[in-house]
Amino acid sequence: MAKTKPGKKDLDSYTIKGTNKIVRPGDCVLMRPSDTDKPPYVARVEKLEADHRNNVKVRVRWYYRPEESIGGRRQFHGAKELFLSDHYDVQSAHTIEGKCTVHSFKNYTKLENVGAEDYFCRFEYKASTGGFTPDRVAVYCKCEMPYNPDDLMVQCEGCKDWFHPSCMGMTIEDAKKLEHFLCSDCSSDDDAKRSLNTFPVSPSVEAKVEPKRRKR
Ligand SMILES: [Zn+2]
Ligand SMILES: [Zn+2]
Repeated sequence: MAKTKPGKKDLDSYTIKGTNKIVRPGDCVLMRPSDTDKPPYVARVEKLEADHRNNVKVRVRWYYRPEESIGGRRQFHGAKELFLSDHYDVQSAHTIEGKCTVHSFKNYTKLENVGAEDYFCRFEYKASTGGFTPDRVAVYCKCEMPYNPDDLMVQCEGCKDWFHPSCMGMTIEDAKKLEHFLCSDCSSDDDAKRSLNTFPVSPSVEAKVEPKRRKR
C-alpha cells in the first residue's frame, strides 16, 4: 500500500496567489527565479503536496532554455524552444507566477499567433551530459540546418525540400510574393543528387566522431 509521510497530503490543484489560475499536476508553469533579472523558469508540475501547516510544495520537472544547456543556444533553436530535462526539484508553490503552454513542435508550427505563454519542446535533455533525445534531426536547405520555426522557409515544388530565402539569394519579401518556387538544383538540368541528411544535436555525440579507419 502506498503511504504518504505523516502530516502531508497530496493536492489535486493549487490556485496561484493573487490570481484565479488553477494549477494541476501535468500543467506547465512559470516560476520566479531568485535573480529577478532573469526570465522565469519553466517547469512541468509532477505533484502538489501540502504539509501539516498547509505550506504547499510542488514537485517539478524543469524545462531548460537553450542558453541553459551545456551546448548553449544554436542557430536552429527557436526563441520559444525549451528542452524537457531529467532534472527534478521540490519548490515552494509560492514561486509559481503563472501558467504556460509547452506545445509539441508540430502544434507550435501550426499556431496562428504565438503568445507570450506559448513555448515548444522537441528534445528531451539530459542535464548531466548535455545529450539530447532524439539525437539527430532532419536538416533542410543548402545550409543543411535543422528547422528553426522562427525562420521563414519556402518549399521547392520539385524536391519538396525547404529553403531559407537568404540561402537562395532572395529577400524575405521576395519569398513571400512567390507563388511557385524551384530551388537551384531543381531548376537546373543536372540530376540533383540529394541525400536525406541528419544533424547531430548532442555535443557529446559530435565529440565522439572519430576518423574512419580501414579494417585490417
Ligand atoms: Zn539555408
Ligand atoms: Zn528543389
